[in-house]
Amino acid sequence: MERTKLTGRIVTSNDAEYDDARINNNLSFPKFPKVIVFCQNSKDVLNALKWVRENHTPFRVRSGRHSYENFSLVNGGLIIDISEMYKIKVNREKMIARIEAGADLGQVYNTLWKYGTTIPAGTESSVGLVGLTLGGGIGMLTRRFGLTCDNLLEIEMVRACGKRGAKLIKANRKNNHDLFWACCGGGGGNFGIVTSLTFRIHPVSRVSVFSVTWGWKDFESVFNTWQDWAPQADESLTSEIEFKAKKANEIIAQGEFVGTSHRLKQLLKPLTKTGSPTNVMIKEVPYIEAVRFFDDPSGNQPAHRKRSGSFIEKPFPQRAILTMKHFLENAPNEKAAIWHQSLGGAAGLTDPKATAFYYRDAIIAQEYLATWNNPEEERLNIRWIKDLKRALSPFTTGDYVNWPDSLIKDWPTAYYGENFKRLREVKTTYDPYYTFKFPQSIPPINKWS
Ligand SMILES: Cc1cc2nc3c(=O)[nH]c(=O)nc-3n(C[C@H](O)[C@H](O)[C@H](O)COP(=O)(O)OP(=O)(O)OC[C@H]3O[C@@H](n4cnc5c(N)ncnc54)[C@H](O)[C@@H]3O)c2cc1C
Repeated sequence: MERTKLTGRIVTSNDAEYDDARINNNLSFPKFPKVIVFCQNSKDVLNALKWVRENHTPFRVRSGRHSYENFSLVNGGLIIDISEMYKIKVNREKMIARIEAGADLGQVYNTLWKYGTTIPAGTESSVGLVGLTLGGGIGMLTRRFGLTCDNLLEIEMVRACGKRGAKLIKANRKNNHDLFWACCGGGGGNFGIVTSLTFRIHPVSRVSVFSVTWGWKDFESVFNTWQDWAPQADESLTSEIEFKAKKANEIIAQGEFVGTSHRLKQLLKPLTKTGSPTNVMIKEVPYIEAVRFFDDPSGNQPAHRKRSGSFIEKPFPQRAILTMKHFLENAPNEKAAIWHQSLGGAAGLTDPKATAFYYRDAIIAQEYLATWNNPEEERLNIRWIKDLKRALSPFTTGDYVNWPDSLIKDWPTAYYGENFKRLREVKTTYDPYYTFKFPQSIPPINKWS
């Protein structure tokens, strides 16, 4: 039988562009793949999957390069990169968009905006749409339109077939519906290589954004007000709040409201009346300006990072707030922070078992962030994240699979709760030979390593 050849743009360690092609957004845990194939179409993806199976080569699938733990990279193997497949086709009449899976959020928002439409997705423009959607997808329209995966209608995927083959299939609510279910929150890299995603899109024109800033001294009152207010606010309003290390002396709440700035000003009163804000900004803008407002340039740039997170289902008691305060007082550097996004609203309307995204009762997603410059600082920063997460664990529940953390021992429960069992059944149907494998990948039944 003739052996399959790799097709697409191929980069090896002998090429000048290797380092650019190799690195991900997280510069820690660096990896050195042997070959990176930048697929240009589904045929290249099929060839790549057949090639790794015929040659028994380790491989990973990659798109936006934002995996916190670099699960989209592997030493000495092949990276199947689909980021050069990013065509977007919008059908304004049917209000659907078919998006090739390599598109990043910037490409998605800018193209959909030309048609006066959008989907609810994340904030940083360089994040890959596919990785974000497969794990759920939260952002500044979550409480209005649900998670990104709640707006997904269909995927096309190259799956492993037989012992050495590969084939292109579609999954939606009717066909391969169990696979479709798993792709709405089950996390990237588990079942196959997604080549396109079709979404229900929403009309959008103007929205209002806000930003309120306080100093460290208002820590407790601001956290208390925000956690009671943000998850219960009008569901057209989604907000985030970041508590930075004490040395940075900054607490910043921001958010987006699908409505007028006048109404937003009223809705914000509980927040703006708390403590002594050092800055309050509320403005109505064309939607695309709001997208740019939340697109933090520092998140888009590769850096040394360790991140983790949890969900909050009940407001934090004073003890938990003081724990956060203690850790931020003793943070490894000024860039360390604890970030939150309000959930509820449309994201909370779906049953926890209706999609693979389990944590529908969460009111807040809480994220722990550490960034540093010199590799010598790594240990201290990782330790800080680990200790902080452990100290807050009595008050939090589960973890967001899109914020993977290799330090989580019982990751199946943490990411998937009661949905893990069904995810394994889907895995057994679509990938019985465990072709798609990485640390914390869902194993088929009877295969656990
Ligand atoms: C700076 C930054 C900002 C972020 N902002 C948000 C946010 O606002 N909201 C939010 O919900 N999350 C956010 N995230 C988390 C983000 O959703 C995840 O990191 C997501 O997995 C990134 O996907 P990617 O395609 O960019 O990354 P990659 O590293 O390319 O892939 C991530 C995972 O998906 C798999 N994968 C990639 N392509 C495919 C494919 N075609 N088919 C199947 N599996 C594939 C990979 O193997 C890997 O396991 C952010 C992350 C970072 C680092």
